[in-house]
Amino acid sequence: MILSRKYRVEIIALETPKVLNKCHRCKKSTEFYCSEKFRGNAQQKSIDIWLIYKCVHCDSTWNYPILSRVHTNSMDKVLHQKFMNNDRETAWEYAFQMDQLCKACSEVNTNIEYTLKIETVEHKENNIKIILFSKYKFDLRLDKLLKEILDVSRSKLYQMADSSSIITSPQVSMNSKIKEDLLITVTAID
Ligand SMILES: [Zn+2]
Repeated sequence: MILSRKYRVEIIALETPKVLNKCHRCKKSTEFYCSEKFRGNAQQKSIDIWLIYKCVHCDSTWNYPILSRVHTNSMDKVLHQKFMNNDRETAWEYAFQMDQLCKACSEVNTNIEYTLKIETVEHKENNIKIILFSKYKFDLRLDKLLKEILDVSRSKLYQMADSSSIITSPQVSMNSKIKEDLLITVTAID
């Protein structure tokens, strides 16, 4: 294996995470998908905004609270317009706020479809460097991704990590979820 490569790997989410909630029509806990539509309510100078999720079986709605009782004067006008226009990018930003979302529903399914955009960059060092970045973070496991990029088995990957043939910066364990952009250096694959 040639050890002189540098890859810029962008993780591109192809969908937003589904959430688990009790559906009153299905009368059980089901998955809800993000409709990418907002719902707003203005009352006595106070604004509420929700992001609408729908049951995958019956389309019943679950409203995810985004803003509650924000005074009209302190409301960001540009952001408000985005809510009113059902701006897709804004919807995605909220749909990927895992910590907030987890507090509002029973479970978030982060097992979503994604694709990797891999770009090879010129590199003179005797190692493999992987720059891993993603616009949206969705709890993807590092070992799963590295297995795919390096084309090695899971046990091999852990063996390499144990012998410090793989180093990540910031330092994270192989079984952790990707929470930030990472630089991975591979010094040996035997
Ligand atoms: Zn339902």
